Amino acid sequence: MLDRNNELAAFDRDHFFHPSTHMGSHARGETPTRVIAGGKGATIVDTNGRESLDAFAGLYCVNVGYGQTEIADAIAAQAHKLPYYHAYVGHGSEASIQLAKMIIDRAPDHMSRVYFGLSGSDANETNIKLIWYYNNILGRPEKKKIISRWRGYHGSGVMTGSLTGLKLFHNAFDLPRAPILHTEAPYYFRREDRSMSEEQFSQHCADKLEEMILAEGPDTVAAFIGEPILGTGGIVPPPAGYWKKIQAVLAKYDILLVADEVVTGFGRLGTMFGSEHYGIKPDIITIAKGLTSAYAPLSGSIISDKVWDVLVRGSDEMGPIGHGWTYSAHPLCAAAGVANLELIDKLDLVENAGTVGAHFRKGLADALAGHAHVGEVRGDGLMAAVEFVEDKDDRKFFDPSLKVGPQIAAALLERGVIGRAMPEGDILGFAPPFVLTREEADMVVERTADAVEAVTAKLG
Ligand code: PLP
Repeated sequence: MLDRNNELAAFDRDHFFHPSTHMGSHARGETPTRVIAGGKGATIVDTNGRESLDAFAGLYCVNVGYGQTEIADAIAAQAHKLPYYHAYVGHGSEASIQLAKMIIDRAPDHMSRVYFGLSGSDANETNIKLIWYYNNILGRPEKKKIISRWRGYHGSGVMTGSLTGLKLFHNAFDLPRAPILHTEAPYYFRREDRSMSEEQFSQHCADKLEEMILAEGPDTVAAFIGEPILGTGGIVPPPAGYWKKIQAVLAKYDILLVADEVVTGFGRLGTMFGSEHYGIKPDIITIAKGLTSAYAPLSGSIISDKVWDVLVRGSDEMGPIGHGWTYSAHPLCAAAGVANLELIDKLDLVENAGTVGAHFRKGLADALAGHAHVGEVRGDGLMAAVEFVEDKDDRKFFDPSLKVGPQIAAALLERGVIGRAMPEGDILGFAPPFVLTREEADMVVERTADAVEAVTAKLG
């Protein structure tokens, strides 16, 4: 086994171009290769037999946990029956039609249709095209700009990487591209004026958005996109009143709202959708990850009645819509989606995400909020973050070269738990599978506190 592991590590270094990886240090063998071999519940195991409790559910996606045979069996049965047929020109498989119905049944009331893709990035790419198409059909060809937020994450394609508001995803890629703009992040902890209440800060964010719309010209702004709770940008819940105030501005200027629910869709906040959780009424919802719990790649754009009616006018005027992927509504992925949503209902996992999430976040706050280098413990549902600061009173960042966040994530991994060092700032994120038990949550808290102590003690 050791020989095989060494051989795999060599192949990996020499041939595998990994996403979001330091290419040089990986190719030179300075960072370890970890080959994951299996998993059960919230725990994964590597080829060396080392187990880790995966408190980030892969990339916040394996929501039902590892080793769910019902989903694996559904994929296998579909592969035997019909591995593939396309969805163009009105074709479908039983699984893809069934899944579309199940999604609309669970989505907010005013939603009408689902367009299927493969990833969160391509679903947002679809959304951008549909928004442009929509305004062309309405005879408003100049209404095309899309406003996103700094710290938002919406993918890493050309346009979706532009929507993403994190420098790491722009640097040296000539992004962001027009016509994408970024407005202020609803990041209450990092507000400049500390005298502001949450409501006041939300109003400030809505005012900044309105200023941008007026400066650009409301007739040129088509849509606003946001995650109900910022995810990759630092797991930041919206301050009180934020979504209400933002939606009031969008309604005033006839601007569409896209809720990117790639992370929050299908239960992560303890409600089926984050939109429901925060009182958001989106025109389009992006879904991916939790739709299949990542047992197969599948995403979707859920379209409201309002947008759908205009799209239909478009094909009545111009013929079939010129947009499609070979693998849209792939039968294997759709079968995984049907089995996954059935399992979430059967095991009451949305409820579990809410209750175990609250228990977990309370545990983290009790253990860490008073720590001299912990600026904030925050989250909602089964999403949590701990933000580290050099100085608690003035919220001073650590010198980035110290890599405090990654060091703490590494110390936690040594203790058998996977958390994620979020890409901007020293923030440790958690988004465990919904099957997490209270005992497992307590274990994550205990080991996190230990890892934080071990790393910060060295910093002085
Ligand atoms: N939108 C959000 C909110 C995400 O968190 C992600 C991925 O993490 C994406 C979109 C992009 O999804 P994918 O990586 O499947 O392209």
